[in-house]
Amino acid sequence: EAPAGVREVASVCCYCGTGCGVLVETRGGAVARVRGDERHPANRGRLCSKGLALADTVRRDGARVLSAQWRETRAQPMRGIALDRALDIAADRLAETIARHGPDAVGFYLSGQLLTEDYAVFNKLARALAGTNNIDTNSRLCMSSAVSGYKRTLGADAPPACYEDLDLADTVLIAGSNMAYAHPVLFRRLEAARARRPGMKVIVADPRRTDTAAFADLHLPLAPGTDVALFHAMLHVMDAEGLLDHGYIQCHTEGFEALRARAQRYTPQAAQAICGVPAEDIIQAARWFGRAGAALSLYTMGLNQSTSGTDKNAALIHLHLATGQIGKPGAGPFSLTGQPNAMGGREAGGMATLLPGHRDPDSAADREESAALWGVDSLPRTPGATALDMFDAVGEGRIKLLWIAATNPAQSLPDQARVRAALERAEFVIVQEAFAGTETLAYADLVLPAATWPEKSGTVTNSERRISRVRAAIDPPGDAQPDWRLAQAVALRLAARMAPDKATLFAYRDESDVFAEHARTTAGRDLDYSALDYATLHASGPQQWPYRDGQGVARLYADGVFPTPSGRARFCDVDYRPVAEAVSPEFPLRLTTGRLRDHWHTMARTSLARALTQHVEEPWVSMHPDDMRRFKLDPGALARLASRRGSVVLPVQADDSLRPGHAFLPMHWGSAYMAGQGVNALTNPAADPISRQPELKHSAVSAEPA
Ligand code: SF4
Repeated sequence: EAPAGVREVASVCCYCGTGCGVLVETRGGAVARVRGDERHPANRGRLCSKGLALADTVRRDGARVLSAQWRETRAQPMRGIALDRALDIAADRLAETIARHGPDAVGFYLSGQLLTEDYAVFNKLARALAGTNNIDTNSRLCMSSAVSGYKRTLGADAPPACYEDLDLADTVLIAGSNMAYAHPVLFRRLEAARARRPGMKVIVADPRRTDTAAFADLHLPLAPGTDVALFHAMLHVMDAEGLLDHGYIQCHTEGFEALRARAQRYTPQAAQAICGVPAEDIIQAARWFGRAGAALSLYTMGLNQSTSGTDKNAALIHLHLATGQIGKPGAGPFSLTGQPNAMGGREAGGMATLLPGHRDPDSAADREESAALWGVDSLPRTPGATALDMFDAVGEGRIKLLWIAATNPAQSLPDQARVRAALERAEFVIVQEAFAGTETLAYADLVLPAATWPEKSGTVTNSERRISRVRAAIDPPGDAQPDWRLAQAVALRLAARMAPDKATLFAYRDESDVFAEHARTTAGRDLDYSALDYATLHASGPQQWPYRDGQGVARLYADGVFPTPSGRARFCDVDYRPVAEAVSPEFPLRLTTGRLRDHWHTMARTSLARALTQHVEEPWVSMHPDDMRRFKLDPGALARLASRRGSVVLPVQADDSLRPGHAFLPMHWGSAYMAGQGVNALTNPAADPISRQPELKHSAVSAEPA
């Protein structure tokens, strides 16, 4: 038995979409230690460096927003105010803006780090009360191309595989993912699987020779943005060598012949010319994939953060459909979710392009169903603005009030000059934030103090569709409140001003009420977990969706039936398109961005843990030694990097894991750490036409001594 004053609370790590279970030990109301939870199926007790350092990030010494703040005009400094007063101001400004300019003059920009319950309340506030579909999240920068790839080919936003498949695969194709850094616990699981089964083949497609690529049996160092050509060429080889499963294609898919004809043009030699990968390596990759008893693909931002992100996802999924490598142990296309609850946010419909329960706001029937589930007459029809479009609408004066929660767009969105100009143009900016000092706080008119991990409770869904309980281990500091509570408090006040009969829509007593209402919206849908509640999650532990007959479904589509009108999966006749911004004599370097092992997003939390900041203490740009000579840059010297949008100054490092002509910048540091507006001063806001996800993985830049 634990000594008096010592408690251990089972929860979930708040970083990546692996969703590792943690045990948070508290002593005297403070977090003393965090360790992995052996009972959690996602990690079986393992944690990576970020999870292990969680206790060190729970600090109160000036690191937190402890009270509400307000400034009446931009010329005034922020001053602390009572939380009740701040909630009144938020409701007043929302009501005034809607009355003067209509509901689409307000927007909500949320985060994949919110809990499902947070999303659910914000979503209802935006659509059922404020009357706008202008609600989107930073998940738009993360998984939206994976979503549109799944929906176009398989018919639903649902990763079909599960973590156990990492143990069972014969060939693993990792595309556009440095999972050794971004999903370290899953990477360790893969390492252990290959140690047990030395015949397993690992192929990594990545422009850089990352730690993940160094682990591979075959590294395909493709040029940024050329994945579709690579996957089509693999399909071409498998077709030519008789490695396709024509029985599966015939019984369970449609559209194959058009794609097959297109793939005829992508010979390995043609793909070599586009991708820069030797033809014989493409042939080898295709043979390992096509001859595998079970082939698994793992992929993330390298495919998603692209102007052809949806097509890249589809082209990879085609390889599985054409070989029947889906719906069976060890097989399937498996997107690794970047954020801890991007999945749960989509389930709750907290994005412009979704409604609760994976419904579609463009569908009149889905709007009607959602309205009925929420108990309102109707929902707005006007399409909502997705992330980048929302900031454009703010910059153009169409959205006048923006409410930002749990994200830091003044650092994380591409083309910072444009984003910051938009924030300056906004009439009123509410920033709901836990951590003091984020770049976005500088643009706030009203700050609402938010609770964060491990002070709030709810649920998250990880990459394998598994829902886990997040539990508060300590009380929030100061006036901080859980995000859904702040949204609820403003919603009740707004209802009193605009529509008193709608106050009952927000009469939640606690998180379990929110979850119960949300779970009901999934009934009869592809993700159905209407039978799940907090009591079941407590008694039986984390569960996968769909959840039927008292258990979750590990793998989807085992019966070869897909949630499309015909019941068949779809091959899409997609073609390779180059990146949006070609290199030129003025901007001759291809810049890619990515994560480091020990940091997370804009470092609001990880910068608080000394163990994490020690790994890499400051930002740098890495380049091939040949390029450093070409641009007269010495190792460690300051370089000025410029794109068509902005410039930064930071130290340069030689790195021969990059190919000549390429540069790499970690995504984590903002303008507090480098001259200029941080890494996203450079990046390109051009977006995929379907997913609206921006091409953060490629910009054309120049380099010179600073
Ligand atoms: Fe947390 Fe992801 Fe590391 Fe697991 S792998 S401990 S979820 S950061």
